[in-house]
Amino acid sequence: MNNETHTPSSDFAKEIALIPGGEVINKCIQCGICTASCVVACVDDQYRPRRLIQKILIGKRDEVLKSDQPWLCMTCRMCEERCQEGVSPAEIFHAVRILAVKEGHIPKVFQITVEKVLCDGWMLADAYTDFNEDEREDLGLNPALAWNDTFTKKVKKKYLAGEESA
Ligand code: SF4
Ligand code: SF4
Repeated sequence: MNNETHTPSSDFAKEIALIPGGEVINKCIQCGICTASCVVACVDDQYRPRRLIQKILIGKRDEVLKSDQPWLCMTCRMCEERCQEGVSPAEIFHAVRILAVKEGHIPKVFQITVEKVLCDGWMLADAYTDFNEDEREDLGLNPALAWNDTFTKKVKKKYLAGEESA
Protein backbone atom coordinates (compact mmCIF):
# COMPACT_ATOMS: atom_id res chain seq x y z
CA MET A 1 0.00 0.00 0.00
CA ASN A 2 1.30 3.41 -1.02
CA ASN A 3 1.49 6.09 1.67
CA GLU A 4 1.87 9.00 -0.73
CA THR A 5 -0.99 11.27 -1.62
CA HIS A 6 -1.75 11.33 -5.34
CA THR A 7 -4.31 13.98 -5.94
CA PRO A 8 -4.28 17.75 -5.71
CA SER A 9 -6.29 18.63 -2.65
CA SER A 10 -9.14 21.12 -2.63
CA ASP A 11 -10.01 23.05 0.50
CA PHE A 12 -13.05 20.82 0.82
CA ALA A 13 -10.87 17.68 0.63
CA LYS A 14 -8.63 19.15 3.32
CA GLU A 15 -11.69 19.86 5.45
CA ILE A 16 -12.88 16.25 5.05
CA ALA A 17 -9.36 15.00 5.82
CA LEU A 18 -9.56 16.68 9.23
CA ILE A 19 -12.65 14.67 10.21
CA PRO A 20 -12.00 11.17 11.62
CA GLY A 21 -12.41 8.71 8.75
CA GLY A 22 -11.64 11.26 6.05
CA GLU A 23 -7.87 11.37 6.60
CA VAL A 24 -6.83 9.31 3.59
CA ILE A 25 -9.00 10.90 0.93
CA ASN A 26 -5.99 12.34 -0.88
CA LYS A 27 -4.63 8.87 -1.53
CA CYS A 28 -7.48 8.16 -3.95
CA ILE A 29 -6.20 7.70 -7.50
CA GLN A 30 -9.68 7.65 -9.05
CA CYS A 31 -9.30 4.11 -10.36
CA GLY A 32 -12.98 3.31 -9.95
CA ILE A 33 -12.58 -0.09 -8.30
CA CYS A 34 -14.84 1.12 -5.50
CA THR A 35 -17.67 1.85 -7.92
CA ALA A 36 -17.17 -1.50 -9.64
CA SER A 37 -17.40 -3.21 -6.23
CA CYS A 38 -20.26 -1.23 -4.77
CA VAL A 39 -23.50 -3.00 -3.94
CA VAL A 40 -25.46 0.26 -4.08
CA ALA A 41 -23.97 1.27 -7.44
CA CYS A 42 -25.18 -2.09 -8.75
CA VAL A 43 -28.78 -1.04 -8.25
CA ASP A 44 -28.59 2.76 -8.51
CA ASP A 45 -26.90 4.16 -11.59
CA GLN A 46 -26.74 7.62 -10.00
CA TYR A 47 -24.62 6.40 -7.06
CA ARG A 48 -20.94 6.29 -7.92
CA PRO A 49 -18.46 6.33 -4.99
CA ARG A 50 -15.52 7.22 -7.23
CA ARG A 51 -17.37 10.18 -8.71
CA LEU A 52 -18.46 11.35 -5.27
CA ILE A 53 -14.87 11.26 -4.03
CA GLN A 54 -13.80 13.12 -7.17
CA LYS A 55 -16.29 15.88 -6.39
CA ILE A 56 -14.77 16.24 -2.94
CA LEU A 57 -11.24 16.26 -4.35
CA ILE A 58 -12.06 19.04 -6.79
CA GLY A 59 -13.90 21.06 -4.16
CA LYS A 60 -17.61 20.78 -4.99
CA ARG A 61 -18.47 21.43 -1.37
CA ASP A 62 -21.98 22.75 -1.68
CA GLU A 63 -23.07 20.12 -4.17
CA VAL A 64 -21.75 17.23 -2.08
CA LEU A 65 -23.02 18.47 1.28
CA LYS A 66 -26.51 19.07 -0.09
CA SER A 67 -26.63 15.78 -1.98
CA ASP A 68 -28.44 12.61 -0.88
CA GLN A 69 -25.58 10.55 -2.31
CA PRO A 70 -23.29 10.35 0.76
CA TRP A 71 -26.29 9.02 2.68
CA LEU A 72 -26.84 6.09 0.33
CA CYS A 73 -23.66 4.26 1.37
CA MET A 74 -24.60 1.09 3.26
CA THR A 75 -21.19 0.89 4.95
CA CYS A 76 -20.74 -2.66 3.66
CA ARG A 77 -17.03 -1.83 3.08
CA MET A 78 -16.70 -3.94 -0.04
CA CYS A 79 -14.99 -0.95 -1.69
CA GLU A 80 -12.57 -0.67 1.22
CA GLU A 81 -11.65 -4.35 0.93
CA ARG A 82 -10.77 -3.87 -2.74
CA CYS A 83 -9.23 -0.40 -2.83
CA GLN A 84 -5.52 -0.78 -3.60
CA GLU A 85 -4.71 2.59 -2.03
CA GLY A 86 -6.14 1.97 1.43
CA VAL A 87 -8.97 4.43 0.99
CA SER A 88 -12.34 3.78 2.60
CA PRO A 89 -15.17 5.51 0.74
CA ALA A 90 -17.50 4.44 3.56
CA GLU A 91 -15.42 6.37 6.10
CA ILE A 92 -15.10 9.36 3.77
CA PHE A 93 -18.86 9.51 3.27
CA HIS A 94 -19.33 9.20 7.01
CA ALA A 95 -17.08 12.24 7.42
CA VAL A 96 -19.16 14.06 4.79
CA ARG A 97 -22.36 13.24 6.67
CA ILE A 98 -20.90 14.59 9.91
CA LEU A 99 -20.22 17.88 8.17
CA ALA A 100 -23.58 17.87 6.39
CA VAL A 101 -25.42 17.35 9.69
CA LYS A 102 -23.52 20.23 11.29
CA GLU A 103 -24.68 22.46 8.45
CA GLY A 104 -28.26 21.21 8.55
CA HIS A 105 -28.26 19.13 5.36
CA ILE A 106 -30.04 15.91 6.26
CA PRO A 107 -32.18 14.27 3.58
CA LYS A 108 -35.84 14.38 4.53
CA VAL A 109 -36.24 10.61 4.42
CA PHE A 110 -33.53 10.20 7.09
CA GLN A 111 -35.08 12.89 9.25
CA ILE A 112 -38.42 11.07 9.08
CA THR A 113 -36.73 7.77 9.91
CA VAL A 114 -35.00 9.18 12.99
CA GLU A 115 -38.15 10.96 14.16
CA LYS A 116 -40.10 7.73 13.75
CA VAL A 117 -37.60 5.67 15.72
CA LEU A 118 -37.34 8.29 18.46
CA CYS A 119 -41.12 8.38 18.70
CA ASP A 120 -42.00 4.68 18.45
CA GLY A 121 -38.70 2.94 19.16
CA TRP A 122 -38.82 1.12 15.83
CA MET A 123 -39.92 1.53 12.22
CA LEU A 124 -42.79 -0.92 12.20
CA ALA A 125 -45.19 0.53 14.76
CA ASP A 126 -47.79 1.25 12.08
CA ALA A 127 -47.68 -2.36 10.98
CA TYR A 128 -48.14 -3.70 14.52
CA THR A 129 -51.72 -4.91 14.54
CA ASP A 130 -54.13 -6.58 16.95
CA PHE A 131 -53.19 -9.79 15.19
CA ASN A 132 -49.54 -9.36 16.19
CA GLU A 133 -50.56 -8.55 19.75
CA ASP A 134 -52.69 -11.70 19.96
CA GLU A 135 -49.87 -13.77 18.51
CA ARG A 136 -47.42 -12.42 21.05
CA GLU A 137 -49.84 -13.06 23.89
CA ASP A 138 -50.34 -16.63 22.67
CA LEU A 139 -46.58 -17.08 22.71
CA GLY A 140 -46.33 -15.72 26.24
CA LEU A 141 -44.60 -12.54 25.06
CA ASN A 142 -45.35 -9.03 26.27
CA PRO A 143 -47.67 -7.51 23.65
CA ALA A 144 -46.96 -3.97 24.86
CA LEU A 145 -43.43 -3.92 23.44
CA ALA A 146 -42.30 -1.90 26.43
CA TRP A 147 -38.69 -2.38 25.37
CA ASN A 148 -39.34 0.25 22.71
CA ASP A 149 -40.06 2.86 25.37
CA THR A 150 -36.95 1.83 27.28
CA PHE A 151 -34.87 2.04 24.11
CA THR A 152 -36.09 5.50 23.11
CA LYS A 153 -35.62 6.79 26.66
CA LYS A 154 -32.03 5.53 26.71
CA VAL A 155 -31.28 7.05 23.30
CA LYS A 156 -32.79 10.39 24.24
CA LYS A 157 -30.95 10.41 27.55
CA LYS A 158 -27.63 9.69 25.86
CA TYR A 159 -27.93 11.88 22.77
CA LEU A 160 -30.70 14.39 23.43
CA ALA A 161 -30.17 15.52 27.00
CA GLY A 162 -33.27 16.90 28.58
CA GLU A 163 -35.70 15.02 26.32
CA GLU A 164 -35.60 11.68 28.10
CA SER A 165 -38.82 12.32 29.94
CA ALA A 166 -40.65 13.59 26.85
S1 SF4 B 1 -10.95 2.16 -5.29
FE1 SF4 B 1 -9.83 3.51 -3.88
S2 SF4 B 1 -8.34 4.63 -5.15
FE2 SF4 B 1 -9.85 3.70 -6.54
S3 SF4 B 1 -11.38 5.34 -6.85
FE3 SF4 B 1 -12.11 4.10 -5.17
S4 SF4 B 1 -11.34 5.04 -3.30
FE4 SF4 B 1 -10.18 5.88 -5.04
S1 SF4 C 1 -19.24 0.82 1.76
FE1 SF4 C 1 -20.64 2.20 0.66
S2 SF4 C 1 -19.49 2.92 -1.13
FE2 SF4 C 1 -18.44 1.09 -0.32
S3 SF4 C 1 -19.26 -0.65 -1.48
FE3 SF4 C 1 -20.47 -0.48 0.38
S4 SF4 C 1 -22.21 0.83 -0.18
FE4 SF4 C 1 -20.66 1.09 -1.78
